[in-house]
Amino acid sequence: KNVAHKQMYEAHEFAANFYNHLLLNTVEGEKAYEYLEQRGFTRENIEKYNIGWALDDWEALSSLLQRQGFDMNDMEQAGLVIHRENGTGYFDRFRGRVMFPLYDDHGTIVGFSGRVLEKSEKEAKYLNSPETPIFEKGHLLYNFHRARLNARKTGNVIIFEGFMDTLSADRNGIENSVAVMGTALSDTQLIKLKRITNDIVICCDGDNAGWEAAKRFSGLVMDKGFSLKIAILPGKMDPDDYITQHGIEAFREKILDHPHTYMSFIMSYAKRSKNLSHENDVLQFIHEVMEELANTLTPVEKDMM
Ligand code: ATP
Ligand code: MN
Ligand code: MN
Ligand code: MN
Repeated sequence: KNVAHKQMYEAHEFAANFYNHLLLNTVEGEKAYEYLEQRGFTRENIEKYNIGWALDDWEALSSLLQRQGFDMNDMEQAGLVIHRENGTGYFDRFRGRVMFPLYDDHGTIVGFSGRVLEKSEKEAKYLNSPETPIFEKGHLLYNFHRARLNARKTGNVIIFEGFMDTLSADRNGIENSVAVMGTALSDTQLIKLKRITNDIVICCDGDNAGWEAAKRFSGLVMDKGFSLKIAILPGKMDPDDYITQHGIEAFREKILDHPHTYMSFIMSYAKRSKNLSHENDVLQFIHEVMEELANTLTPVEKDMM
């Protein structure tokens, strides 16, 4: 590997430990610690996932990286800092955010996702590292390095919409899940999954965005010839909300163990926008479902339709 890349990996490791230290051992990190606690993370969880806190400060990380002797141009290429327009130095990309390291398939940190403590109009809820020489967004599956072995054992892999859902499942003992980082599901990601299992469970948020994501994901997964189940959360809940409110056993029994088949998902999806007591909607419904399923239905399923 080239020298700059090696520095980028090292800087991420260094930054993650710095953020984690701030979260666990400083007064400045207390609010973030309380936030995580209230969301169900224990100290052990925080250590395991190396979660941290980026100070609400312009140069906390950049000045430290500089003192450590990192090449600041490389640090900018790595997405950790940004150069000032007036040419005098660099400032931190992540400020005032709870920091979740993003690991590549080898378990090396290649980026971060930072969450604000409180949602606001001003700032995006999550800020991710940009594409860099060591972080290809469309390739990374959150938690793949850990889920890989467990998915082989359980025989399937769960795909969530948000990495918070993966963390929630993982700390409650469901260790075979991955999440996309707010991107489409790519060929590269599906090929990775294909090497470890042929069985995918898509588990999406119950809101509109979740149904749309499930629709997009499921088409791609079917195209790759996986055996697919689709679980959608009730109401506008997401998997993390559900686990927090009802516990992991209920999540297993009521959600994971009662998934849609692709066919029943497509039917439910088509039903959402229609009133089936209207004849026009019924015709539209049949048309949509038949079109969607033309290539995937078995002869028996076609008869049932
Ligand atoms: P939380 O529980 O912390 O609110 P979530 O996992 O429920 O987070 P969602 O709003 O359901 O988050 O979004 C799912 C995923 O989409 C996130 O994990 C993130 O990758 C991406 N995402 C959502 N909102 C944003 C945003 N404002 N900016 C960037 N990415 C986002
Ligand atoms: Mn959502
Ligand atoms: Mn969500
Ligand atoms: Mn959530």
